[in-house]
Amino acid sequence: MGRQNGVTVWFTGLSGAGKTTIALGVEKILKKRGFYVERLDGDIVRETLTADLGFTKEDRDTNIRRNVFVAGLLTRNDVITLCSFISPYRETRAYARKQIERVGAFIEVFVNSPLSVCEKRDVKGLYQKARRGEIRNFTGISAPYELPLDYELELKTDRETAEESITRVINYLEEKDYISPLADNDNK
Ligand code: ADP
Repeated sequence: MGRQNGVTVWFTGLSGAGKTTIALGVEKILKKRGFYVERLDGDIVRETLTADLGFTKEDRDTNIRRNVFVAGLLTRNDVITLCSFISPYRETRAYARKQIERVGAFIEVFVNSPLSVCEKRDVKGLYQKARRGEIRNFTGISAPYELPLDYELELKTDRETAEESITRVINYLEEKDYISPLADNDNK
């Protein structure tokens, strides 16, 4: 197995920007290469760990705080932790960074796709519902998304394929020495 250092990769972006798709792709590659990796995804944790919460600013912040706690436990044990949360508030993302950097490294990845593209994709039919007023506090429609300023990596998912975005994350992890690169005799 390759060498790895504790790091949280924090994917932020609008619903439908590609956070889950990219995190899943990164997870698959890392697992294949034998790394310990865990994924915390907004859609999944909201059915379990934070099922009691809604989408007001306060609830969104609580959702992130609980997940940062879990991500911190994993990161301090050198697990590569992939977090995909809309996490629309700059201050809350800064909180995540601050907490995680106490125990390991934090990489903010801005999964950037224009609202119009996300809305056209409408992977889960949520934009249509939000436009009809059936969902309140929907990011990009009736709740804010504060653009990241303090990110390590930007993935423009309206201009690159998911495979390209995934490869860019893996390359970044290698370049910064969070994971060892593939040895010559390893299979890709
Ligand atoms: P999110 O987790 O941000 O809500 P999803 O990953 O669920 O978004 O959905 C993103 C959609 O966009 C998927 O249908 C995916 O196939 C598509 N897509 C197109 N290009 C990309 C890209 N470069 N990266 C990620 N997803 C992409």
